[in-house]
Amino acid sequence: MTSYHADHAWLGGDAVCARVLIEVDGERIATVRSDVDPPAAATRLPGVTLPGLANAHSHAFHRALRGRAQRSLGTFWSWRREMYAVADRLTPDRYRALARATYAEMALAGVTCVGEFHYVHHDAGGVRYAEANAFGEALILAAADAGIRITLLDACYLAGGFGQELEGLQLRFGDGDAAGWAERASGLREAAHARVGAAIHSVRAVPAEQLSTVAAWARERDAPLHVHVSEQRAENEACRAAHGRSPTRLLADHEALGPRSCAVHATHVDDADIGLLGATGTTICMCPTTERDLADGIGPARALAEAGSQLSVGSDSHAVIDLFEEARAVELDERLRSERRGHWRAAELLDAATRSGHERLGWPEAGRLAAGALADFVTIALDSVRLAGAQPATLLESLVFAGAAADVRDVVVGGRHVVADGRHALVGDVAGELRASIEAVLA
Ligand SMILES: [Zn+2]
Repeated sequence: MTSYHADHAWLGGDAVCARVLIEVDGERIATVRSDVDPPAAATRLPGVTLPGLANAHSHAFHRALRGRAQRSLGTFWSWRREMYAVADRLTPDRYRALARATYAEMALAGVTCVGEFHYVHHDAGGVRYAEANAFGEALILAAADAGIRITLLDACYLAGGFGQELEGLQLRFGDGDAAGWAERASGLREAAHARVGAAIHSVRAVPAEQLSTVAAWARERDAPLHVHVSEQRAENEACRAAHGRSPTRLLADHEALGPRSCAVHATHVDDADIGLLGATGTTICMCPTTERDLADGIGPARALAEAGSQLSVGSDSHAVIDLFEEARAVELDERLRSERRGHWRAAELLDAATRSGHERLGWPEAGRLAAGALADFVTIALDSVRLAGAQPATLLESLVFAGAAADVRDVVVGGRHVVADGRHALVGDVAGELRASIEAVLA
């Protein structure tokens, strides 16, 4: 049994508890008690301890575009050309190195579980590797290297648009048809730190008659099914032109919605779509720092939540990796749009970044500080210039609205101390590995 003593810890609700003793047995939390003096043997956790953060939507290789993507301005589609240039340079070895460094950056930011929405499957021209899942397995190993959990959301990507074949670089994404995708994805192996889920890249990329095959694959495994939905207005217009209905309606008509499904972005959804997503219990993942970077727009997160869709957040293209920034942006973007304050409570936003995010990734036993849960937790220091002076009664508000990834001091995943006093215990030089692995894919 290992003991940790937190000055403050969030056990749920709208306030934090003081002097919290967390006892860990193996990979699980055995007991959690507040108002307890620290035992001599306990590891002290100064600051506020939260459940581990879940980054529910990631494309690890987009990390190489940070900064560079600010030159390819114009539209989402001009950004996509830049992104494709990096995808073109990926090999399984290069991707493992880049993902290892990116996931280590996530660990330093308090992320203990990542949902990797993965669509680069094959060699140039669509040629199969000898190991059909060479990329997927590299990502699973990269997460192990970085000491975090991963749900590999293997994405079906079959078309270059409605009625369009894949071309050029996109050939690396394709499996021919959904049955080919399912056969390959079925070969992915789970591990103690890794689970496998499904993704439909988008209704642009998976022809309507193939959607139900992907949905059935996820249903049979009781696995998560994630989909990019209505990130851009152009997708809605093209979908209506091809099918006479919205992307959300099309997904519903092919049994792709439901509580295991997660609509990523849901930026340009109308009232009928919101009703459909909510009524089916389909969940949502907002990625505000990417959505603003790509000029997508502001998704109606509050309306979706009222309709019945649980919220999670993700750093998606990794313009920044900071889940506090993602969480507060959900509220602050809504303030800009509505000219009113107070759509989301700080505790609701933290719940999205912890418990709900883990559920969206198929880890319902993580994301809570409670007996029996996986021992995944993160401590945010209160002695930085950003958070100094934070008051106990409003600590959650301070964290959500002024905290930063840089304030994360300790991270424990499955009982293992992955980040100790702000340093990654497994990856010695995270910045150096980021620099080298990015240069390798930009060269
Ligand atoms: Zn995405």
